Amino acid sequence: MFPMLSQVFKKIFKKPFTNLFPVKYAPKSMKKFKEDVEKKKIKTNPPIPLPENFRGKILYDKEKCIGCQLCIKVCPPKAIEFKKEEKKIRIYVARCIFCSQCNDICPVGALNMSSDFLLASDNKLEENLIVE
Ligand code: SF4
Ligand code: SF4
Repeated sequence: MFPMLSQVFKKIFKKPFTNLFPVKYAPKSMKKFKEDVEKKKIKTNPPIPLPENFRGKILYDKEKCIGCQLCIKVCPPKAIEFKKEEKKIRIYVARCIFCSQCNDICPVGALNMSSDFLLASDNKLEENLIVE
């Protein structure tokens, strides 16, 4: 019991290991919080740099795409669809599992993984979540 209590008290007075949500992306409802940060009334932790080769939202260079459909074949959750009329693709980011297989197989380098990870939404078909 005693070792556990001593741990609890130690943790109470330690700084948190986690970072606060990046202030610049904080929702409008946190207006007061954002203002206090700007006025330096609240001190925030510096953001942790993203690791090398981080796999965020997919980027698509339509001009480079030759319509080979290899990306569609390797996509595990079937997040990519072929637009027959244009011979180009459409990616549904809400279905993507960020495996990067499409990126690895594309013969012309038309796909890339960005560092954008703030993709939460209650609408899986919103503009930001459709890449074409
Ligand atoms: S990263 Fe993976 S899941 Fe996402 S679109 Fe590419 S192949 Fe599909
Ligand atoms: S693999 Fe590359 S070139 Fe082929 S359809 Fe997909 S994005 Fe276009």
